[in-house]
Amino acid sequence: MEQEVIVVGGGPAGLTAALYASRSGLSATVYEKGYVGGLAATTDIIDNYPGFAEGVNGMELGEKMKQHAERFGAKIVASEVERVWRDGGPKVLVKGETIAAGAVIVATGWSPMRLGVPGEEEFTGKGVSYCATCDGPLYRGRTVAVIGGGDSALQEAIFLTKFAERVKLVHRRDEFRAAPFLRQAVRDNDRIELHLSKTVVAVKGGDMVEGLELESKKTGAREFVEAEGVFFYVGIIPNTGMLGPEFDKDEKGFIVTDDACRTSVEGVFAAGDVRSKTLRQVVTAAGDGACAAMSAYEYLETHG
Ligand code: NAP
Repeated sequence: MEQEVIVVGGGPAGLTAALYASRSGLSATVYEKGYVGGLAATTDIIDNYPGFAEGVNGMELGEKMKQHAERFGAKIVASEVERVWRDGGPKVLVKGETIAAGAVIVATGWSPMRLGVPGEEEFTGKGVSYCATCDGPLYRGRTVAVIGGGDSALQEAIFLTKFAERVKLVHRRDEFRAAPFLRQAVRDNDRIELHLSKTVVAVKGGDMVEGLELESKKTGAREFVEAEGVFFYVGIIPNTGMLGPEFDKDEKGFIVTDDACRTSVEGVFAAGDVRSKTLRQVVTAAGDGACAAMSAYEYLETHG
């Protein structure tokens, strides 16, 4: 079975790639093992996607992108791609079956990083979470902690104040790397309590999380801080387990491409947050999707 374009991952990058490929007259199939919209779909309000002046719910945006791609004939399949490689031409492995493609676009995004402190794994699902949109409503009127100082941590800390009475934002430095708009919004929110220059030593509790043991980076003093929920936003790891060493990656494991989204393997392109790049936003993921699809089109015109 040969398909013209196989897109791995159904987030904003993958769905946009499928839209552009289908609209160019190619047959495009998106394989998504989870839910369409990718991690963006777990964001309550996306505030900076052009055209949505009031903001847009991540799941709703994902659904709209899916419908848009389907309107031009793209197919979305709920399956995991286990391997992508080249053998004569690009190939993918799905449920043990090898599928040949004219071109493959890898748009698999990232997963949240684990901090690796004692109690984190033990209490996952018992108060430890990596998704405020999914679990935030459980903490109405309660106290939660958010760990991290990037866009995700600050955005989700603000989101959690919709439910939680108190949000303790714990960051290992005095300064946040998050965007200025988010820093200001955190400063303006009196439900957010800052715990700066502190690291998490352990997550503590009985049957459920009861709090965190923190250590000051300035004095070394340790303290117990109460929280019934703990949300970790300490960074991201690229989802590249389906790619072998023939794919060039940067020091953090993100896929290296040229500016036309070509990977080091002929006929395989990469788009969105899984690419090695500086800005990871829904709009840049969508832009990458378009770029990868048009490069795949050009590739198929000359090699197809
Ligand atoms: P990130 O930008 O990599 O930030 C990770 C945060 O965790 C940093 O503040 C980092 O501290 C901290 N951290 C890392 N390792 C740690 C450790 N061992 N102990 C304690 N703290 C640790 O990750 P992210 O916030 O998840 O964002 C990922 C990407 O998605 C970024 O490109 C971001 O711009 C994008 N994003 C954008 C938006 C938006 O625009 N609204 C929303 C979400 C995500 P240091 O600062 O000290 O390194």
